[in-house]
Amino acid sequence: MERRERERGAAGLPSRLKPQADREANAERKIRSLLWRHQPEFVLAGNLDIVFTRSSNTPVSLSQRQGSGTLRLHVLFSKAPDSVLEDVIRFCFTRGNQVEAKNLKARILDYVGENRHQTIATMSEPGPFSPKGKIYDLEKTLRRVIRKYVPERRLVSSRPAIGWSKRPTIKLMGKWIETSPGERNAIIINSLLDDERVPDYYLEYNVYHELLHDLFSIHRSRGRWIRHSAEFQAREKTYPLYTRAREWEINELQSLTMAENAIR
Ligand SMILES: [Zn+2]
Repeated sequence: MERRERERGAAGLPSRLKPQADREANAERKIRSLLWRHQPEFVLAGNLDIVFTRSSNTPVSLSQRQGSGTLRLHVLFSKAPDSVLEDVIRFCFTRGNQVEAKNLKARILDYVGENRHQTIATMSEPGPFSPKGKIYDLEKTLRRVIRKYVPERRLVSSRPAIGWSKRPTIKLMGKWIETSPGERNAIIINSLLDDERVPDYYLEYNVYHELLHDLFSIHRSRGRWIRHSAEFQAREKTYPLYTRAREWEINELQSLTMAENAIR
């Protein structure tokens, strides 16, 4: 199940690219001046690359080799206040005190947690995408799934938007995107599944899975993000065709993606 959660890389940054580049440059300047203040010997000794990533699994990491290093930060930190950047610098470059490191880490993760909706919305912006495919109309599938299995989303105003991905991908069958409060969340389904060879129960299962993300939002536990909690998984298994859908995925999905590979 993990593979369907992989991010789609940096693909979704349309016209906002420029302001985002400015934000990153600005944050980089701040980090370098903080570094100079806290760790002048590191600045003197070597090279530090600062890279903003869109990987949500590791918000902050530092790799060092022979005096030079790479500091990787989630793009979320490009908007972080100075105090948070200072925590990041102290966390990465201060050696020794474990209690302090633990406190710094907790503060950094709190910042990530508080601003998570903001990042996800900005970074994986789906753009205009349509629910109507060549074979399947996702709007209809969503309505059916809600009617049969997810009464919590019966109110139209509580429903996420849904659409096909612009291009088929190999690994990710669906993705749930959390937006800012007050906006509709979104579900994107891999357009690979808009195919007559795909049984409707498999498509339905994928829509159901993503819709469950709308019910059981991602939370942090022991320092890790939990996407598919025990509750989530138990509810997922109540889908009557769960076993059949998983079997189809194991046995048949591959032939679909192989054909897709051959076309490219
Ligand atoms: Zn999932």
